Amino acid sequence: MILYNTLGNEKQEFIPFEGNKVRMYTCGPTVYHYAHIGNLRTYIMEDVLEKYLRYAGYDVKRVMNITDVGHLSSDADTGEDKMLKGAKREKKTVLEIAKFYTDAFFEDCKKLNIKTPDVVEPATNCIAEFIDMVSVLLEKDYAYISGGNVYFDTSKLDKYYVFGNQKEEDLEVGVRDDVEEDLAKKNKTDFVLWFTKSKFDDQELKWDSPWGIGYPGWHIECSSISIKHLGEYCDIHCGGVDNAFPHHTNEIAQSEAYLGHQWCKHWFHVLHLLDRRGKMSKSKGEFLTVSLLQEKGYNPLAYRMFCLQSHYRKPLMFDFDTLDNTVTAYNKLVNRIANLKDDGEIETAVADEYIAKFKESMDNDLNTSLGLTCVYDVLKAKTNDKTKLFLIADFDKVLSLDLIAAAEKVKAENETKTADVDVAKIEELIAKRTQARADKDWATADAIRDELAAMHVIVKDSKYGITWEIQN
Ligand code: AMP
Ligand code: ZN
Repeated sequence: MILYNTLGNEKQEFIPFEGNKVRMYTCGPTVYHYAHIGNLRTYIMEDVLEKYLRYAGYDVKRVMNITDVGHLSSDADTGEDKMLKGAKREKKTVLEIAKFYTDAFFEDCKKLNIKTPDVVEPATNCIAEFIDMVSVLLEKDYAYISGGNVYFDTSKLDKYYVFGNQKEEDLEVGVRDDVEEDLAKKNKTDFVLWFTKSKFDDQELKWDSPWGIGYPGWHIECSSISIKHLGEYCDIHCGGVDNAFPHHTNEIAQSEAYLGHQWCKHWFHVLHLLDRRGKMSKSKGEFLTVSLLQEKGYNPLAYRMFCLQSHYRKPLMFDFDTLDNTVTAYNKLVNRIANLKDDGEIETAVADEYIAKFKESMDNDLNTSLGLTCVYDVLKAKTNDKTKLFLIADFDKVLSLDLIAAAEKVKAENETKTADVDVAKIEELIAKRTQARADKDWATADAIRDELAAMHVIVKDSKYGITWEIQN
């Protein structure tokens, strides 16, 4: 499989450290509010990646953290803890907030057919591991204590900007109103590993540590949770593109300093979902959630399809018109699948040919839009319906659009409708209407049309004569 690797900024063949074993890490949500559909774009694309790796025969173990402490409102280690902010907003405790929004996150994931990773670990479960990692970094002289906090010393590294495309100004502090310069740091790029003497005396969750009572920095949790569950090597680490710097850059710095060797080979970043104000983000106030889409009558899977139609490395502009088009496309696709008959034998040579095409698309830097096109190609293929159904179900293991289940539902609904229908009566009415029209008796013809409409019958005149169907 060819995948773009942010480490190197190029497409590379994806080769795990050990055979077909893939250790995959995903930066999880900060559970202080509902996930917006931008966050969920990232999780949808990561889900497709995981499912495709499994489909391609890899043995995947995937780990995700839940950030329930330490993520400050600015990535430059300043500002208030996001969790505390959420708790204050809702007049609840931090743990109540964390539990509520963790559950809400997984409910959203379920609606979008995003599989729960094999391991999900809240940061507050791993304080001992964080303390251990910080202690080792201090022992190895990669960290220092200043102003009561423990900092990572970035000047000890040969190369800090590992992704190569960040600028020092990204970390410039003191130039924005909401960011204050931390005078305890030796270097501008240094970051906090453990807070004790922070400005936030009211921090709700605090733990004892060799450096005093305090709480962990945000970056340490991902390094530590990954190493706890995946060991010293990670094959692929994922997140939204805003995580690349400083979060992932700092994760690499501290993990490799701690381990003494390369940690993670491949970095997979999903570009942002945008709205007319730019990057969708919670700090801008209003944001779109899956529940809101449902309240507006949208099937969450139409949003999943909306995401699959575009490449993960391109920013994606959200608007309702495009989503409406996707809904139409999804329903049409499902209706076409509902018309397939489950009979005959699978033609394996044809199936192999289409599977190869699907793999070729997905192997090309996870081209989900081409992967989706393969479903349409199958519908047009010169093969029997059994083979088509088999292939669509197979691709949907990765795409997860519930195509077969939705088609079954449409079929069942159509059958119920047809079972309730008095065919003889409808045909009698249509014959009477035809006669009335021939007699130019428009009043009778209109009355019959209304009667048919009340029975949800749509009459169509075509060059082949009059046909009818029951409206869905
Ligand atoms: P957070 O809950 O803020 O820690 O973010 C969860 C995930 O969503 C991270 O991987 C972010 O990089 C990602 N993310 C944040 N905003 C967006 C966006 N507008 N589009 C896509 N992904 C995003
Ligand atoms: Zn992370």
